[in-house]
Amino acid sequence: MKVLVINCGSSSLKYQVLDMTTEVLLCKGLVERIGMDGSVITHEKIGMDKFKLETPMKSHKEAIGHVLDAVIDSEHGVVKSMEEIGAVGHRVVHAGEKFASSVLITDEVKRALTECIELAPLHNPPNLLGIDACEQLMPNTPMVGVFDTAFHQTMPPESYIYALPYEYYKKHGIRRYGFHGTSHKYVAERAAEILNVDIEDLKLITCHLGNGASVSAIKRGKCIDTSMGFTPLEGLVMGTRCGDIDPAIVTFIREKEHLKQGEANEILNKKSGVLGISGVSSDFRDIEEAAAEGNERAQLALKVFAHKVRFYIGAYIAEMNGVDAIVFTAGLGENGIAMRDIICNDLGNLGIKLDLVKNRVRGKETIISRDDSKVKVLLIPTNEELMIARDTYNIVRNLK
Ligand code: AMP
Repeated sequence: MKVLVINCGSSSLKYQVLDMTTEVLLCKGLVERIGMDGSVITHEKIGMDKFKLETPMKSHKEAIGHVLDAVIDSEHGVVKSMEEIGAVGHRVVHAGEKFASSVLITDEVKRALTECIELAPLHNPPNLLGIDACEQLMPNTPMVGVFDTAFHQTMPPESYIYALPYEYYKKHGIRRYGFHGTSHKYVAERAAEILNVDIEDLKLITCHLGNGASVSAIKRGKCIDTSMGFTPLEGLVMGTRCGDIDPAIVTFIREKEHLKQGEANEILNKKSGVLGISGVSSDFRDIEEAAAEGNERAQLALKVFAHKVRFYIGAYIAEMNGVDAIVFTAGLGENGIAMRDIICNDLGNLGIKLDLVKNRVRGKETIISRDDSKVKVLLIPTNEELMIARDTYNIVRNLK
């Protein structure tokens, strides 16, 4: 069965088609500037050159129409007709407490996801637009929702309850949800395969370090804690997000800086993180370059980032009474040689010994700890699309 994976943002859309009998990627692409001037689709049939088409796409439905045209194109396409696409897997950011795993999309599921819009006002609406558009264009094809929050639903209450008046949890759903779940799940499962150990016998800490960043504690294949919370703002320092701060700072800077409605939120989400500390960039490559040239704030930004990752690793070792393997993934986790080195430096007493030579690698599945390291350290490129396609395939295959 061939599965189309759709990841719909507010003005952009990523897609892939995979053959799930072999798990081979057939084509992938990106639509940018949906609903704006200069909309463009970039499509790549694997093994062929990319093609780019600039054409007006006023809505997500028009964008998905162009995606389907590309997928069935006689030269760049990978199927002869839409009937060959057995299912569509949609990435959806927030499913609240409603879903702990991926589900077949029905009207009832869509209603439940609509109720989650207030928890993810920027993400769930375009995700739902993508689902509606596909349903209109492919009315007979089953659709599956795969949720960023689902994997973290196994957290025990002591991990997800905030020390706020309890009725806020009951009335408004204010609790820790966690995000990047599809990525944490994928790399945890891969780690078990690479180590050739049943995931039931493993304690893992997975570090998804990208522009958004989070760490998860995974015991026996189940998430027991994660660093992101009610929103993706909590936890680690990120590209532009502040991560954990004293909540009293919010009211304090609001007064001191005479901030208007919404401005504090904007500062914490868009102007903080390593960008805020360094003043250089949110991109770790730029910050590393500036740090190497002697920029002290860039050096400080890298240290603060690493400090927070180490802080969570230590906390999760305590929560799980040990760890068997630590996994690095996402843009910085997969490519940031120097950052992995700083994070793992001087953790020998915890049984973590990075091999500085093996660590000189980017974007490749490999073990980067020393042979005598009690705790294995792995680099595993994430593959959220494959995870979405797998869940979609497994759900739809069982319908028949
Ligand atoms: P992601 O959100 O997973 O796409 O990750 C994006 C982040 O990965 C950006 O902050 C990049 O700076 C970082 N990144 C990508 N390549 C490298 C690299 N070669 N060295 C350091 N950081 C990198």
